[in-house]
Amino acid sequence: MKCPHCNHTFALTWKEYFLEILGCHNCVACKRRFKLSFSWSYLAITVLIVLMIGGLATFLAVRFTHSRMIAIGGLVIVLVVLLPLDRWLDDHWRKSAPLEPDKPES
Ligand SMILES: [Zn+2]
Repeated sequence: MKCPHCNHTFALTWKEYFLEILGCHNCVACKRRFKLSFSWSYLAITVLIVLMIGGLATFLAVRFTHSRMIAIGGLVIVLVVLLPLDRWLDDHWRKSAPLEPDKPES
């Protein structure tokens, strides 16, 4: 992630990812808050990957086991696999923007 205030680049940790689920973060350098902006490309990539991986896993589970419980378990595992991907998208894909307008230093 890149801070929009001071341009410092730092990695998004799991702790920050889960604590700031709405996408607002503190810069580790200047301590100011910023948010990860929503974009249609982020949504499109996320939905596409969820459909591809989730659909394939569900299809394979039902096809080879004929068990709905295994299919549901497969979906849960897929969601767990997708969390690192979503964190990666937050860290590398989504643009950051200041949470509040820049104020002049007093
Ligand atoms: Zn900063």
